[in-house]
Amino acid sequence: MKRRRTGGFLLSMMIAFGGAGCTGTPPVSSAQPLAVGVSDRTNTPEVKPGLSSVEKPAVHPKFDADRAFASLKKQCDFGPRYLGSAGHDKCLDYLKTEMKKYADETVLQEFKYRDFPVTNVCGVFYPDGKKAPSTAPIVLLAHWDTRPIADGPRSTVAGKGAPYVYGAKGWNRLNPILGASDGASGVAVLLELARLFKEKRPTVGVLIVLVDGEDYGDFRAKGGQGDGVLLGAEYFAKNYRKTPSFGVPFNGILLDMVGGKNLIIAKELGSQNAAPGMNDKIFSVAQSLQHNDVFLYDEIQEVEDDHTPLIRAGIPTVDLIHPLPYGNFETRGYTQWHTLEDSPENCSAAALKAVGETVAEVMYREK
Ligand SMILES: [Zn+2]
Repeated sequence: MKRRRTGGFLLSMMIAFGGAGCTGTPPVSSAQPLAVGVSDRTNTPEVKPGLSSVEKPAVHPKFDADRAFASLKKQCDFGPRYLGSAGHDKCLDYLKTEMKKYADETVLQEFKYRDFPVTNVCGVFYPDGKKAPSTAPIVLLAHWDTRPIADGPRSTVAGKGAPYVYGAKGWNRLNPILGASDGASGVAVLLELARLFKEKRPTVGVLIVLVDGEDYGDFRAKGGQGDGVLLGAEYFAKNYRKTPSFGVPFNGILLDMVGGKNLIIAKELGSQNAAPGMNDKIFSVAQSLQHNDVFLYDEIQEVEDDHTPLIRAGIPTVDLIHPLPYGNFETRGYTQWHTLEDSPENCSAAALKAVGETVAEVMYREK
């Protein structure tokens, strides 16, 4: 991850829901218009914050949070997983093996960034009872790579050593992080969901995309456009139509940094603008499952993340993400973000459970 969005500067802003209580400058509008509601076919029940959804709970296999947490630890056991690292190779093998166990079709999107292989691991899940992919699935995403440098605001090693520049061996790899929440957590939840989907297919088609190269480079390069970041999501957004099995996703849900022990998730402004039906549905389902200690209905944040390229490509996508430790979220955000302490010890199965149960319920309710 990713940056807060404020005028191209690294730090974005957190504002109170409803636009009041700004702690910084107002958010700049995206360079391209957000696809407000485009193909967002979800019918949002009229549910007030704090009340449970009017829909009946879906019947589906139980999300096993311990199993998901074991996957989080396994990914971290491979070591840092930035492009070109040994851990990256090992983790890729693991992800391919896992996806093939569960998906109807496993598709690799392979490309290069400055000679480094980059791979999105994609799983196509057919709609329940069907023998072909959906033409309009829901896409679930998480990035599986990790940041090669501990340059977060709370990092004790930030600014030490060589400058963060691109050299003969790629971006400076001093102090690479383990990425337990920022990397492994979203993947862990999605692999457990894949296991559920294998056991019982949702009514709708699902596309799980584990994107690579989110966190590799410099978010501030090229006047704020970034260099070497959001690589897998950008590639997917530009090329998904080349793979007929992918269909044209009508909604997306991105999971990023969902493993922290102190996990909270506020509504993300870009998500709310692009996919209000899906975002409201997720938060109301979370309320109905009594995960309102994690899903904060009345607070909002804004980040640029892997959902941004998808939204620009016309796929209304929600980002579920622990806020960065700035502004209103300075202490409640993920303070281990881009530090050497982003490790399994600071994550919990309970966090994965809140997110996994919520997304599972949303997916099994979709028609
Ligand atoms: Zn990150």
